[in-house]
Amino acid sequence: MRFLQKSFDKFSRAFSSNAIIEPFALAHVTIVTGDKAGTVRRNMTILVGANGRIEQIAPSIETSIPEEYHYLDGTGRTVMPGLINLHTHLFAQGKPLNPKLATPQGQRMVSSLVHSPLGRPYLNALVKRNAMELLKSGVTTIRTLGDVGYEVVALRDHINAGETPGPRILASGPLLAIPEGHGAPLIALTSSTPEEARETAAKNIMAGVNVLKIAATGGVTDAQKIGEAGSPQMSIDQMRAICDEAHEHGIIVAAHAQSPEGVRRALAAGVDTIEHGSVLDDELIALFRNNPNALRGYSALVPTLSAGLPLTMIGQDVTGITDIQLENSKTVVEGMVAGARQAHEAGLVVGVGTDTGMTFVPQYATWRELALLVRFAGFTPAEAIHAVTQTNATILGVDSVTGALEPGKSADLLVLDANPLDDLRALAHPALVVAAGRPVWRPKPDRFPEIDALLDEAFADEVHSNDVHEDEAHSDATHTDETYTDETYTDATYAGETRA
Ligand SMILES: [Zn+2]
Repeated sequence: MRFLQKSFDKFSRAFSSNAIIEPFALAHVTIVTGDKAGTVRRNMTILVGANGRIEQIAPSIETSIPEEYHYLDGTGRTVMPGLINLHTHLFAQGKPLNPKLATPQGQRMVSSLVHSPLGRPYLNALVKRNAMELLKSGVTTIRTLGDVGYEVVALRDHINAGETPGPRILASGPLLAIPEGHGAPLIALTSSTPEEARETAAKNIMAGVNVLKIAATGGVTDAQKIGEAGSPQMSIDQMRAICDEAHEHGIIVAAHAQSPEGVRRALAAGVDTIEHGSVLDDELIALFRNNPNALRGYSALVPTLSAGLPLTMIGQDVTGITDIQLENSKTVVEGMVAGARQAHEAGLVVGVGTDTGMTFVPQYATWRELALLVRFAGFTPAEAIHAVTQTNATILGVDSVTGALEPGKSADLLVLDANPLDDLRALAHPALVVAAGRPVWRPKPDRFPEIDALLDEAFADEVHSNDVHEDEAHSDATHTDETYTDETYTDATYAGETRA
């Protein structure tokens, strides 16, 4: 016990001092590369260097492990690239929203609270905690799309400096909307003209954001009448001004767009990713594929099925959403699912995001989006895993750094007890997560059992109806700390140094 405590202290120190990463070998693992074909390599050993990068990946019998490297026996375990979530919000946990807070008055109340001197430390603690929840669930890179202020920019800088653990963050800051539009006033800067729009973009860029987010149409949670969720809000000229400013700085722009017309206008303005999306036609498909106003000449779709489907599949008595929200959800979800399927069929670039923090979208449930893409949008499990790793990295422009297991890339690793290509549920309970070479021991997210049960039930289909026993085996009740100490990677395992 004292030994365990000692090694834990050693690691706490390693975490708190910014430069130290201890090199290690992860031996005898099965690797899921994350390519589209679902390539699997058996009995491989991964070496991770003190710079936090992958040094070597080779068959175990061809690998000699340097003496000073910690040794982790990965027999029976599967390793894949860490997940990337393109659509997160860190200011909320994903519990059902109090309907009163969705009114303009309620939003103003919340807004003044989190912007107040009293609310600020609370907000900082909340976003740090939520980023850790994502990391513990195997997500090693996130893009936020709508922050309260620049609290996530600050968190990103702390993580990059090694002052606090967390995923790689690309932060948006507040989203950009029209007055009274989607996200305003809680998480948006507003503008009424192209000139003002460009100023709001410039303000975010000056504050150090990595990406921008536009509210091109209304949204579900703050819509006050039926049909408002997808109705166009910001003008094409305003959005164009924002895209021009962003692209001059090499920054991509995401647009919340929940109707065909909203998607068309945002694409015409030059946004790089469409969030949620809607039914596509030939014109829209062609615009996604070849978009001269986008930073890289094309635009991607990020469907976020996790954010809409639960509202339509779980009873209104449980979700607590209003009739207006329910009607808007149905329309939006129908369009979103159709769009995701059409985009996949057409071979467009489809990324993976969940809209964490929204109602019934806990920070730790990224894996569910993959299952939904398979079930509702025609993806194979291999395609879904490819999308959440390599495609997402390419969309963010960080594919030279992460998204794949290759020497020279950041050691962003997700270690699982089973192969996710056989059952995506293997992703729900990682055995170990490594972010930029730093292990997260006992990666046990703080779950909401009631929400998990509702989602399990809502998304249960014939494929999963036999999984009752498996579910029980995965419940938190059986994953006690003792179980983890014995069977999962702990600091003690790492310090064990026994070589197989
Ligand atoms: Zn969102």
